[in-house]
Amino acid sequence: MHRSDPHAVNADLHCHSTVSDGTLSPADIAKRAFDNGVELWALTDHDEIGGQSEAASAAKNLGLAYITGVEISVSWATETLHIVGLNFDPADAALEAGLHKTRSGRARRAEQMGEHLKKVGIEGAFEGALSYAGNPNLVSRTHFARFLVEKGICSDVHDVFSNYLVAGKPGYVEMQWATLAEAIEWISGAGGVAVLAHPGRYRLSALEADVMVEEFIKLGGRAVEVITGSHSASQYRKYTTLAQEFGLMASRGSDFHSLGESHTDLGALPPLPDALTPVWHNWL
Ligand SMILES: [Zn+2]
Ligand SMILES: [Zn+2]
Repeated sequence: MHRSDPHAVNADLHCHSTVSDGTLSPADIAKRAFDNGVELWALTDHDEIGGQSEAASAAKNLGLAYITGVEISVSWATETLHIVGLNFDPADAALEAGLHKTRSGRARRAEQMGEHLKKVGIEGAFEGALSYAGNPNLVSRTHFARFLVEKGICSDVHDVFSNYLVAGKPGYVEMQWATLAEAIEWISGAGGVAVLAHPGRYRLSALEADVMVEEFIKLGGRAVEVITGSHSASQYRKYTTLAQEFGLMASRGSDFHSLGESHTDLGALPPLPDALTPVWHNWL
């Protein structure tokens, strides 16, 4: 694909498959992205790159440009941040080892979440979540959420996150993820670009957010998601200004997980503002 203006390219560089907490296979996401008019695509499963080869070959068969992707969970101060890695070598040994280390804590956390939910009268939550995830190392809060909805305990996944599984509510278990330095080093070391995912979702004060962004840049982070399914229109403007102030490139991604739960479909977001440099500007 050759385009003189990268802003005109329908890029969707953030979504999830059954390899993490999405409900479609990498090949089915490729098809949906293509059918929705996506022209440049990345699959970014949580802490996992096992879907990359299926995604790349499905995209190739469709004539859809593909770049590698991952979304790494990071513990920073009291918050969990998400760092998206794009356009890296998926065979990089240090990246794979780092992701493996990060994933191994999930199984233990999931069992503890099940114990906590049992104490408030919800039986079988771990087993239920596991039935969705298929593998204890991949069990996430989203899988627990689907179980609570299936059992009629909550009306939808958003209801679950308001009443369970978050700090101060039943089912929340503190988790030590990768450090910001580790996540950026794994991505950069594999030749990729580190992108700060959906900054509007973090519960940080304005001062904390500035400190976090400065640290992200000092460690080698180079882009920020401005147009994402997690942001409102006013947040598009806020993070456009942030990208300009800090000299960061900008990314765009739906964060699509499943047909019923995701409010934004693949490829459906507005384009990046003209003032910003798309992270994919030299990948076309
Ligand atoms: Zn995320
Ligand atoms: Zn995501």
